[in-house]
Amino acid sequence: MTAVRSVGVVGTGFAGAAAAILLAEAGVEVDLFDAKTDVGALGSGITIQGNACRALVRLGVWDEVRQHSYPFEELGLRAPDPAATVIAVIPDVKTGGPDLPATIGMYRPDLARILVERAEALGARIHWGAKVENLSQGDDDVELVWQDADGLQRRRFDLVIGADGLHSTVRALLGIDVQPRRNGMGIWRAFVPRPAEVTRTDLVYGGPCYIAGYCPTSEDRIYAYLVEDAQDRTTLPPEEQVATMRRLADAYHGPWDEIRASLGEDSRVNYTWFTEHLIDGPWNRGRVVVIGDAAHSCPPTIAQGAAMSLEDALVLVELLVAADAVDDGLWQRFSERRLPRARTVVEASSQLANWLLAHDRDADVPGLVRRVATLVGQPA
Ligand SMILES: Cc1cc2nc3c(=O)[nH]c(=O)nc-3n(C[C@H](O)[C@H](O)[C@H](O)COP(=O)(O)OP(=O)(O)OC[C@H]3O[C@@H](n4cnc5c(N)ncnc54)[C@H](O)[C@@H]3O)c2cc1C
Repeated sequence: MTAVRSVGVVGTGFAGAAAAILLAEAGVEVDLFDAKTDVGALGSGITIQGNACRALVRLGVWDEVRQHSYPFEELGLRAPDPAATVIAVIPDVKTGGPDLPATIGMYRPDLARILVERAEALGARIHWGAKVENLSQGDDDVELVWQDADGLQRRRFDLVIGADGLHSTVRALLGIDVQPRRNGMGIWRAFVPRPAEVTRTDLVYGGPCYIAGYCPTSEDRIYAYLVEDAQDRTTLPPEEQVATMRRLADAYHGPWDEIRASLGEDSRVNYTWFTEHLIDGPWNRGRVVVIGDAAHSCPPTIAQGAAMSLEDALVLVELLVAADAVDDGLWQRFSERRLPRARTVVEASSQLANWLLAHDRDADVPGLVRRVATLVGQPA
């Protein structure tokens, strides 16, 4: 028995696409809305942990993801010295179980495309260029209002899922007054050729940046990143962005010498601020629920944002498909399964960032990372 026959999903990111896949697979009629005009090719790389890989298996996309990604099993720590001395190589915890890689790196637009194509293949109707602007709840359904090229449209659904990211319109329409807060850090990212010696993520804590890191995404490519104090970089023209990233990278060596040399205007250099927030209570109001970044965000210090978004979708649809009705019991079960886990991830990610901001050298980073890995190693 499924508690719903039709669902409107707002947002085609990881959370929305995952929810659409599972709902469509369960025979539910799904309409997926996105303000973007297509799946897009913006962005560079993403680090996906084992527990997210386990979710991708459940979504039926693992084989394709594996073909388009770069797996690795350990994390390197290097010093900000001229030799980029390797201080430690730490085996990654296999949070997705023994049969999956501990971590994969991937070109982010590939993952987005694979998920959306799967949802579409299973019958989800995708509405590109459809910006959701309003909703109203009846006793047994929700009317969703969106704007597209033909003007204002409306349709009723048994349930609406707001998977519309950090600055969620659905969250605001529900009157949930929680906003992402900037945590004080900004990140430069670039997508560049893979130096032959880069076969895993290496992190440097220290030097002019809080973190200098990279992650292989394929045999040919990596994404590299530098985390600094958040600044307004929005007015920098593209060539200045490249020059700034190159300047900050000057202090880092080993593979960074090659990375720095290959930085150019085709490197998709991009600057973003870190945020954190959590809806510390129910994520629904009536028959409308928010998941993914709409419900929580954190600095990507332990790379769990995508995993949490996918897991939110998995748990929500599992409960919806097993339930007879959309009632308080359903939402309570959803909260019990998701809120403590999301809170642990948000708090740990923020704690790690705060230690870096405070230059705390006594912080127990390995202990914190191990604690989170043990938690997320358990199925959601
Ligand atoms: C700098 C940075 C690096 C990160 N690195 C990692 C990493 O390495 N690993 C990791 O696991 N996580 C990482 N994350 C976190 C991860 O990217 C997010 O947690 C994840 O993408 C959230 O997915 P989502 O589906 O919830 O939201 P989104 O991907 O933001 O999708 C929301 C969608 O909703 C659409 N939308 C918004 N408003 C409307 C509207 N009104 N109507 C219709 N559509 C709308 C948008 O167009 C968008 O497509 C990183 C985050 C940042 C900021």
